[in-house]
Amino acid sequence: MDVFDDALARVARIGAGAGVTPEVLDALRQPKAVLAADLPVRMDDGSTEHFLAYRCRYNDALGPTKGGIRYHPDVSRGEVMALALWMTIKCAVVGLPYGGGKGGVIVDPKRLSPRELERLSRAYMRAMADFVGPTTDIPAPDVYTNARIMGWMADEYETIRREKAPDVITGKPIALGGSLGRDEATGRGAFLVIREYAKRVGLEPAETRVAVQGLGNAGYHVARLLQQAGYRIVAVSDSRGGIYSEEGFDVESLYQHKQQTRSLQAVYCEGSVCELVEHKAISNEELLELDVELLVPAALEGVVTPGNVGRIRAAAIAEVANGPVVGEADAALSERGVVVLPDVLTNAGGVIVSYFEWVQNRQGYPWTLERVRGRLEDRISGAFDAVWKVHQTEDVPVRDAAYRVGLRRIAEAIESHGTREYFAGD
Ligand code: GLU
Repeated sequence: MDVFDDALARVARIGAGAGVTPEVLDALRQPKAVLAADLPVRMDDGSTEHFLAYRCRYNDALGPTKGGIRYHPDVSRGEVMALALWMTIKCAVVGLPYGGGKGGVIVDPKRLSPRELERLSRAYMRAMADFVGPTTDIPAPDVYTNARIMGWMADEYETIRREKAPDVITGKPIALGGSLGRDEATGRGAFLVIREYAKRVGLEPAETRVAVQGLGNAGYHVARLLQQAGYRIVAVSDSRGGIYSEEGFDVESLYQHKQQTRSLQAVYCEGSVCELVEHKAISNEELLELDVELLVPAALEGVVTPGNVGRIRAAAIAEVANGPVVGEADAALSERGVVVLPDVLTNAGGVIVSYFEWVQNRQGYPWTLERVRGRLEDRISGAFDAVWKVHQTEDVPVRDAAYRVGLRRIAEAIESHGTREYFAGD
């Protein structure tokens, strides 16, 4: 099924039992607005290439729309809309004064030189400058975009507007008003969610084997923090494949080595001395099917499907990527008692600290790292409590509980805006 249709079907399924009116669910069936734009980019060899770009503002009942911009060859209009719908739910679950949005460019960024990447990023902001804004739609990083790219986009926006507007985009470099702790925020938030879950069900870190798919920003930080807390990281992968070791890996070493060589190797490094550790090479598909206590998909959407769900052996799945488990696989997992800590809660640390960045920019008053971390912890554990309570009292899977919390908040906002009276005709 198409990713957007799958996302809609999940909202419809969970929404039906959430006690929100059909009018509210109708309002979430399509995005508020989508802008598609051609970005002509001058390449280093003098030629011009055209890239198709999107920005979607899905729903703004709770506040300005918020969400990242993805650079990936598989970006599509439907994918951007699905991601923007998930941002709408996510911001509501963790109580941010934001709606949901998302953007994307169909491009393989690894093929571009740094200067081409800068021209593409500036072109994106030129095309979107009237669509985004500090109180309308606030972009941020997503897959294959980073602080540097956000800095170029902020600069382009400020050049167009002829004023400083750091609050137009989050995840910026610190020097341009970025927040301390934003780089690690998605991974840290996920770690805190897993920790809360472990407390509730009595999971012992030392007895918990973890497989992490994807060693990007979020995957790296969550794996690093889990390992520091005593969890055994027995498998990791990147887009080219994975490695497995029953003893567990030292995440920092793997990551440093990957940064230097651009390839994932089972290597421990101390200073400049690196040594290969015993391991088994595995594919990304095999990683998903490992016999572990916790599976952490931290790469792309749609990796657990009706096709492989029967072979998933993990006791729990923490969705650090957006949408790694497709809606069509939800029922099979809950029937088998596999607990899914859903993306809309588990990876919300990123947008929470984006919100902190936006607040700091609007106040012109930067926070310390301790304050950022402390407030992230308060907010994510508060959201976890609210979701867990619904999970227990209403006897629904954790994902359904999170959606119920989010949908009810969105419903309240839509109804407070006056929609109910309008539709009811009274
Ligand atoms: N791209 C991230 C997400 O999917 C962060 C969005 C943001 O910070 O606005 O949650």
